[in-house]
Amino acid sequence: MEMKDYLRNMTRLCDLTLTDEMINRFSIFYEMLIETNKSLNLTAITEMKEVVLKHFIDSIMVSKYFDFSKGSVIDVGTGAGFPGIPLAILFPNTEFVLLDSLKKRLHFIDQVLEQCGMNHVTLIHGRAEDYGRDEKYRERFDYCVSRAVASLPVLLELCTPFVKVGGNFISYKSDKLEDELQQSKNALSILKCSLNQEIPYQIPDTDYSRVLATFDKKSKLGKKYPRQAGKPKKSPL
Ligand code: SAM
Repeated sequence: MEMKDYLRNMTRLCDLTLTDEMINRFSIFYEMLIETNKSLNLTAITEMKEVVLKHFIDSIMVSKYFDFSKGSVIDVGTGAGFPGIPLAILFPNTEFVLLDSLKKRLHFIDQVLEQCGMNHVTLIHGRAEDYGRDEKYRERFDYCVSRAVASLPVLLELCTPFVKVGGNFISYKSDKLEDELQQSKNALSILKCSLNQEIPYQIPDTDYSRVLATFDKKSKLGKKYPRQAGKPKKSPL
């Protein structure tokens, strides 16, 4: 089966509706991911159905619960563009910022954006800890999303500084979340955030269970955070 047909079928199974333009953009992204991955380490997942399910569908399931058409989104540690690029394909009128410390991966995403004709996405190269202190990005986004970047206590310090008061941080996790939540109590208190929801979901055609942990930013963050680059991982809050 062709990638486009498989993607269309799987999104329908999840009650997600994609336009032809969206499907075409996913197809461009897919072809470029597979081709570039031959020379640059972008993903270990390369089989067509797995890319559709574990990268594309996993990235966009969040759109059933959050309407990103209103507001701005930052993806911290986007890597080869997940979940940022699939979400930007679904929400072409929303401002997206994709951040990563690996320049080669951002260069790949830049080429994807050009081929797809998408100009509502900005790429920034560097550490989340540094940009989280930069007035241009600090507490400026309605939503921060992040997948497969760090454990929750570390991730909260990397991500929540970007979120406006009243905004949300959404962490894509596997279904084994309880321990990480237990270990995040201190971080949540220091970072002025609280757990809002745990949203479990199933990836179709697999026995793959995932969960979105969503957090509310309750008030402004103290100047001390995030700490300098490397510190959140070395000594989590
Ligand atoms: N989010 C993508 C995904 O789900 O496929 C990529 C996951 S990859 C395992 C983690 C990415 O986070 C890498 O590309 C790495 O460069 C980036 N990263 C890790 N720590 C970071 C930090 N402190 N600031 C910026 N990027 C970071």
